[in-house]
Amino acid sequence: MALLDIRNLSIDITTAQGKVRVIDKASLTIVDGTIHGLVGESGSGKSIIAKAILGLHNPSWTVTADRMFLGTTDLSKLSSPDRRKIMGKEIAMIFQHPRSYLDPSRKILSQIKEVLPHSSVRSRFINIVKPKKEQSVMRRINELLHKVGIQNGRSVLDSYPYELSEGVCQKVMIAMAVANSPRLIIADEPTNAMEAVTQAQIFRLLYKLNQLHNTAILLLSNNFGSISDLSDYITLVYCGQTVESGSYKQVMESPMHPYTETMIKTILNFDESIDHKSQLYTLPGNIPSANQLPIGCRLGPRCPRAQRNCVKNPDVVNYKGHIIRCHFPTLDENKHANTSQRK
Ligand code: SF4
Repeated sequence: MALLDIRNLSIDITTAQGKVRVIDKASLTIVDGTIHGLVGESGSGKSIIAKAILGLHNPSWTVTADRMFLGTTDLSKLSSPDRRKIMGKEIAMIFQHPRSYLDPSRKILSQIKEVLPHSSVRSRFINIVKPKKEQSVMRRINELLHKVGIQNGRSVLDSYPYELSEGVCQKVMIAMAVANSPRLIIADEPTNAMEAVTQAQIFRLLYKLNQLHNTAILLLSNNFGSISDLSDYITLVYCGQTVESGSYKQVMESPMHPYTETMIKTILNFDESIDHKSQLYTLPGNIPSANQLPIGCRLGPRCPRAQRNCVKNPDVVNYKGHIIRCHFPTLDENKHANTSQRK
């Protein structure tokens, strides 16, 4: 069952040069209890899509979508306060650079208390706390720290964010994110700039939350290799457009879009030997800036398969649940049958 269903999400941002369409008809379907990887280079629009889901709109944004449902709730029809309630309870967000999202002037204990469900939060505003209630709050906090693998809970709770490593701060952020048992966690490059060991710990932790508590996770990353094996479903986004989407098997074993094929080739395979100083596979050029977008397919100037027809924007086509936006996808005969255009 789809937990989050977004169809044709477009976001226009007003700039000094006029309106710029940074997200163009992006679609995303997250199945309940699964891990969904949203992959694309830096600047491709992943974080903007995440912010649109959470309703963290900048006033200069115009957000439109044909459909934006969380379960049976139409997110596009909710007022800002109602959207905020959903954000705290049903959807939680984990950011990159966790230290910058924690309040540097407050100890971890008071920051975790603040995100606990309402009955526990009151203790922050009332100085006289009943001992029994305080005990149950502390029990809950210790449970959360234990869940995210923080062993020395007492000293972490008694620390300021700058006294902790980036990895521990991220675990604290995850503890805060799961405090309300959300149905969906959006993790925006949660291991960016972390050491390899810490990265592995954070990914293992997210995987455990998914497996043990059936929490759906939307994992944003520019590193295909690091998240592909964790993901049940994968969506690739390029320059504000979702270009290919499907199950892990569909995307990794039978990629159809030139961008996906390139991203897969860029995953390093340490079992294969490569010639000394040989060039690693990459796409030529850089992702264009939002106010200098090419006409037609946005990948056109960098695409190894581009043809004259690509100056027209490609339609989105659904090949038995494997969704693709390209005039010339790689097709095998079995997939060619039974396709439909997705509106
Ligand atoms: S539509 Fe053309 S330019 Fe765009 S990805 Fe497909 S082949 Fe490449």
